[in-house]
Amino acid sequence: MKRVVIVDRRKCEIVNVPTPHAKDDWAVVKIIIAPMCTEYKQYESGIAKLPLGHEAAGEVVEVARKSKVKVGDRVIVMPQYPCGECSLCLSGEYIHCENNIDFAKFTGYSYGNDTFAQYIIKPSWLLPIIPDDISYENASMICCGLGPTFGAMERMHVDDFNTVLISGMGPVGLGGVINAVNRNARVIAVSRNEFRSKLAKEIGAQAIINPDNTDVFGKILELTEGKGVDVSIDCSGDATVQRLIINATRRNGKVAFCGESGEINLLVSIDLIRKGLTLYGIWHYNLNGVTKLLETVNYSKEKLDKMITHKFLLDEISKAWELQLTRQCGKVILYPW
Ligand SMILES: [Zn+2]
Ligand SMILES: [Zn+2]
Repeated sequence: MKRVVIVDRRKCEIVNVPTPHAKDDWAVVKIIIAPMCTEYKQYESGIAKLPLGHEAAGEVVEVARKSKVKVGDRVIVMPQYPCGECSLCLSGEYIHCENNIDFAKFTGYSYGNDTFAQYIIKPSWLLPIIPDDISYENASMICCGLGPTFGAMERMHVDDFNTVLISGMGPVGLGGVINAVNRNARVIAVSRNEFRSKLAKEIGAQAIINPDNTDVFGKILELTEGKGVDVSIDCSGDATVQRLIINATRRNGKVAFCGESGEINLLVSIDLIRKGLTLYGIWHYNLNGVTKLLETVNYSKEKLDKMITHKFLLDEISKAWELQLTRQCGKVILYPW
């Protein structure tokens, strides 16, 4: 089967490796769609670590005796190789598992664990079934497209009473707009990127603020009768913007961080105690919420089709990465076949 490897700065190759086989409760999935995430940063630097790609939707093609899925099932491939036995895994919070399985030791392979390839092997409990009326393309958006902000909105109980501020309109932020609109919340987006701002508007953001030419804090007060937003979600990973959304959130409001970053200046008395903010760090969502997220997908098909702006064959991956580097795109997906 084909597999992608990065060999140098902005250089990659498609190599051939054996196809993995099912074992115990691990099933082999033929990858139909592989959404692209932040791997372009590795492509740009040339400093890459395998496996490449952690999001996919596909068809089960081989199972072993303990499998919870069967051959022919259409499934979403959830990220990582968590243990499946600890309290975090059992409660659905597997993304925070501390006992990830040693893939090479369990399978005997050093391949078959990436989604920028034609097949992947995965514990079957991490392969939720795709309902018949949802396409592979749309279903694949429940990994990093819709996933992180869905997790944030579940934790913060976002509903139609809320004005939600979402900063950063990369694919995670765009997914946030779709999740918030699906909950009938009002969305204010912060973005510097014209292409993505336009896309955010098309999928339902009511106001878009560019921090380069607008006083974001002032504009948000103007849009919220001087109070600030009820809920903020940062998907930018920009420490300055992260600080800004803390300021722009109302008293007793909630702030979630989905964009990875380093230090920010947080004032315990002013921000937390006196203002009463609650802060959340969100990487993903609880696996028990997957049915509800698939309902969001079902209600948001047209918006998801807009959010997926570009499609490439696996063989064209360098073209896809070059496009991602321009940031003139929404979610980009690959077809390995
Ligand atoms: Zn675990
Ligand atoms: Zn991702």
